[in-house]
Amino acid sequence: MTDVITSAANPRIKRIKGLDLKKHRNESGQFLAEGVKIVLDALERGWKPAALVYAHDSAEDPLIAKAIQLARAQDAELLPVSDGALKKLSHRDNPQSLLGVFYQRWAGVEAIKMLKGLWVGLDRVRDPGNLGTIIRTVDAVGAKGVVLIGDCTDPYAQEAVRAAMGSTFAVKLARATEDEFMTWADLWDGQIVGTHLKATQDYRAIDWQDQCLILMGNEQAGLTPRLGTSCHDLVKIPMRGGADSLNLAVSTGIVLYQAGNALAGA
Ligand code: SAM
Repeated sequence: MTDVITSAANPRIKRIKGLDLKKHRNESGQFLAEGVKIVLDALERGWKPAALVYAHDSAEDPLIAKAIQLARAQDAELLPVSDGALKKLSHRDNPQSLLGVFYQRWAGVEAIKMLKGLWVGLDRVRDPGNLGTIIRTVDAVGAKGVVLIGDCTDPYAQEAVRAAMGSTFAVKLARATEDEFMTWADLWDGQIVGTHLKATQDYRAIDWQDQCLILMGNEQAGLTPRLGTSCHDLVKIPMRGGADSLNLAVSTGIVLYQAGNALAGA
């Protein structure tokens, strides 16, 4: 039986807390996910855990016991902690009784070439909440994944993982510089549909192909002109009121569902 960790100054707790910083996530290749269902789903999907942190008095809970069993089978560190130590790690007002430290997964952009289906490309997405919401929507619509282009916020940051509500573990994530993306786009035999406020085509008017990447622009600056040249179609979502533009995650959701429904024949 492992001793209960009661101090937030415990080196193992401090190391996990360090995953709040991108530098430490990059160095370790790890990230933190919170919540019984999310952590258990991730383990059942085969994501490799580095550690499991749980409220010391919750080990008898059947779902947490199952998570502990799955994590132990993969040699993960098992860390029963006090409420105080849990609060230190949690980003929620009501800390969850189970946290998992997992190894990040990145799909190579090259590998995407081989895959069919619907993808989203994000140009320099800055807001982790937007990114998490988009990852969740990509999962909901049954699309394959997200390609992060240029200097993007980290999908494995707590805020992004939280907004994704478990979908981080269900979709593929790839990253590319703009140069790498342009080279890849030249070789890809799928359709690239860019979204742009100055586009003249309505997003409902185009023929969606079964291998398609929807390219979304940065929150402030929109799509770079260079990325715009990689698109076979540029589309716009009509806006009838006075707003200049839609939020990035909202507009991604609207176009994704249009493409997803067209491909599913709905
Ligand atoms: N000031 C930026 C511009 O001029 O492009 C606004 C960027 S907008 C907040 C972020 C991204 O959301 C855009 O680059 C585009 O991909 C998408 N977007 C937002 N509203 C849109 C609309 N009505 N039609 C098509 N795309 C839209």
